[in-house]
Amino acid sequence: MLKSTIRAKRRADLRRQKERARRFFPWCENPEKYADHLASCSCWMCGNPRKYFGLKTMQELRADLNNLE
Ligand SMILES: [Zn+2]
Repeated sequence: MLKSTIRAKRRADLRRQKERARRFFPWCENPEKYADHLASCSCWMCGNPRKYFGLKTMQELRADLNNLE
């Protein structure tokens, strides 16, 4: 992939993540600081399910489903 394409994708991703951060933390003065880590804490609801329940993460489950075929 072209370097410029990769940069364009990263910029678009960051922009989208900032929009999500503004939606998730409307009370926050600077919600964009959460853009690259939208979980603001690591309690049992927000944290990694492997740590609390010994389960796979959503991302890993999706990857497994994609690798079935
Ligand atoms: Zn939490």
